[in-house]
Amino acid sequence: LERSDKKAYEEAQKRLKMAEEDRKAMVPELRKKSRREYLAKREREKLEDLEAELADEEFLFGDVELSRHERQELKYKRRVRDLAREYRAAGEQEKLEATNRYHMPKETRGQPARAVDLVEEESGAPGEEQRRWEEARLGAASLKFGARDAASQEPKYQLVLEEEETIEFVRATQLQGDEPSAPPTSTQAQQKESIQAVRRSLPVFPFREELLAAIANHQVLIIEGETGSGKTTQIPQYLFEEGYTNKGMKIACTQPRRVAAMSVAARVAREMGVKLGNEVGYSIRFEDCTSERTVLRYMTDGMLLREFLSEPDLASYSVVMVDEAHERTLHTDILFGLIKDVARFRPELKVLVASATMDTARFSTFFDDAPVFRIPGRRFPVDIFYTKAPEADYLEACVVSVLQIHVTQPPGDILVFLTGQEEIEAACEMLQDRCRRLGSKIRELLVLPIYANLPSDMQARIFQPTPPGARKVVVATNIAETSLTIEGIIYVLDPGFCKQKSYNPRTGMESLTVTPCSKASANQRAGRAGRVAAGKCFRLYTAWAYQHELEETTVPEIQRTSLGNVVLLLKSLGIHDLMHFDFLDPPPYETLLLALEQLYALGALNHLGELTTSGRKMAELPVDPMLSKMILASEKYSCSEEILTVAAMLSVNNSIFYRPKDKVVHADNARVNFFLPGGDHLVLLNVYTQWAESGYSSQWCYENFVQFRSMRRARDVREQLEGLLERVEVGLSSCQGDYIRVRKAITAGYFYHTARLTRSGYRTVKQQQTVFIHPNSSLFEQQPRWLLYHELVLTTKEFMRQVLEIESSWLLEVAPHYYKAKE
Ligand code: ADP
Ligand code: MG
Repeated sequence: LERSDKKAYEEAQKRLKMAEEDRKAMVPELRKKSRREYLAKREREKLEDLEAELADEEFLFGDVELSRHERQELKYKRRVRDLAREYRAAGEQEKLEATNRYHMPKETRGQPARAVDLVEEESGAPGEEQRRWEEARLGAASLKFGARDAASQEPKYQLVLEEEETIEFVRATQLQGDEPSAPPTSTQAQQKESIQAVRRSLPVFPFREELLAAIANHQVLIIEGETGSGKTTQIPQYLFEEGYTNKGMKIACTQPRRVAAMSVAARVAREMGVKLGNEVGYSIRFEDCTSERTVLRYMTDGMLLREFLSEPDLASYSVVMVDEAHERTLHTDILFGLIKDVARFRPELKVLVASATMDTARFSTFFDDAPVFRIPGRRFPVDIFYTKAPEADYLEACVVSVLQIHVTQPPGDILVFLTGQEEIEAACEMLQDRCRRLGSKIRELLVLPIYANLPSDMQARIFQPTPPGARKVVVATNIAETSLTIEGIIYVLDPGFCKQKSYNPRTGMESLTVTPCSKASANQRAGRAGRVAAGKCFRLYTAWAYQHELEETTVPEIQRTSLGNVVLLLKSLGIHDLMHFDFLDPPPYETLLLALEQLYALGALNHLGELTTSGRKMAELPVDPMLSKMILASEKYSCSEEILTVAAMLSVNNSIFYRPKDKVVHADNARVNFFLPGGDHLVLLNVYTQWAESGYSSQWCYENFVQFRSMRRARDVREQLEGLLERVEVGLSSCQGDYIRVRKAITAGYFYHTARLTRSGYRTVKQQQTVFIHPNSSLFEQQPRWLLYHELVLTTKEFMRQVLEIESSWLLEVAPHYYKAKE
């Protein structure tokens, strides 16, 4: 078996080399192209001469009897002319084909032109026809997964996995590719290649000149291209090379996700051979890795929004590229409206909207029919498998399937999509555990997680080449759907879920829940398997579920989130009439109204809906309005030191304590040791204070079952917030252990999030919604009469996370306009 693998490997290497040579041959081809253009021009001029000549002759000899010889010559010239005309027409046809790639939207609107069809096909959006085809396939082919290699693999497979430990998949459809199928190849050869050669091999490269010309000719350009075609890493570099950053101008490229901004900036810095933070940098909330010299700025969409506060016309930017536009995050959507406006006043500003192959027509229409530049994809076909029956426990099913793929399928790395850090860590642990038990019965399996809070050195590991003989499995959140491209993925495992925010504008409750992903998402995920070779995607749900239970597309975030933050920001940008703001998709009216109402309650807006002084300060702080209010209130209660710590600890997302499986009791004891009367906010404060007293020691964290990297992040956040205190006129002060003051300051920000114990449990004060204290809370067993919570999470119930005991009289003290004395 190993010998045959080696042969396959060598074969793959050979193919790869050939492919590379082909690619190299393309470069002179491109040079030739300009020569061809020159020749075509000569040809055109010749034709024009000829036509003039013929016209002259006909004019001169029109009525004259011509000699036979003269007639023949005239006939010959006419034929030449006709041929030349045909030739020219052909050239125009070619040009026409090129404009299909780079088309004005009007051309596609009337009759669905080629580009539109391709979009449909590539994203695999199932039209009626495809569905019928799928169904036919489903009936006919019950090809058992792994069957293709049954002869060689079956015995080994049985040896390793018990029958009941496997999942039966059915091959149903194929996601079409533009490349012929090829056996899985290893990417080692590519990894060794020079970074410049890799740059030239990306699908966007052959279109460099055309793209730059299009950017030069249009103020707004929509760029559409398959994930991994080089939009994010290459286009800003092209613009840099083209001189768009001369005279101190900057290029911004926005990403919806922090991890993507960091990782992509690091990659581009490496490609340009500069230190990250010099010419190329990134800026994400609470972390700025840029300097005076930074001209290529990768940033989260939220950070660019904040740039508007200090520079409303983005005057120092020559180009703004809104990347991953198809994700339709809240911030990206708001950016659209603001940038469209700025573009009107700054004709020299270039706006690029980059997106995976989805929805580009919408963007084009929004930007006054801006042209769409399509980068032709390079994708291999992907076979799609479904489970025969629904899986009850998708995490367990995931682990089993990964092992199943590992022992039955030819070489190639695996990408698994899960919904968040906790799940990913659990899956990785389970996988490692089983691999350890199987020992040398299976080949080496490298298990690598990737999610937002993962430290960057760990993040970088997913890009490192897989050692020969081993297989890599990357367990990722949605981040790997379109923002990051990992080379060498042949298998995708998709349980079909994602974590999604939802918002109920009636109750004002925001919750984060695990929900089925959309078809568009599922197809993007599947597409990740076809980047380097023909791939396979295993969906842990049935074909029926795909067709009947998944939504077509994900609802834009703006329609399922609270808008307090954004409304505050827009108000401070002087945009008052939010109902008529230029939204790509408007938020629900009630959501907008509720945001205004909450900001009014927090004192950020006056009764006319205008920004107050306090509202202006709140907008300065890069945190939620409630959190900013809490920080501002710490001035009054002289406890800003403590409140900063609480704010920083709340910002690191419930990842302070960890519970190793083998030391659950120790970990829980350690946690209980931090408990202070009053509630979770004080516990967080206590942890941080003790850590600071230990000299910010990692050893201390280890001994107390506290996550060192979360703490380090909290420290960063705290420093940043502290740096902003002066701007919002809050002095540094400490409560000296008088925690009542801290609790009052917190209440001043969170009086909106209060619950009261009734005979039937906790109810939120305003909306009378039934809620529960999270079992992790220090107050879980105490059940105080009044409390406030930091956030609600909906898992099995509506749980309040991070709760603090308060007294009802404080509510009157901190928000007399909101709470009136009743009882
Ligand atoms: P797009 O934005 O069109 O999806 P990208 O510009 O992100 O494409 O990616 C282009 C190529 O750069 C991909 O093939 C990917 O493998 C490579 N790449 C991107 N980031 C990294 C990284 N951090 N390490 C190694 N390769 C990377
Ligand atoms: Mg990208």
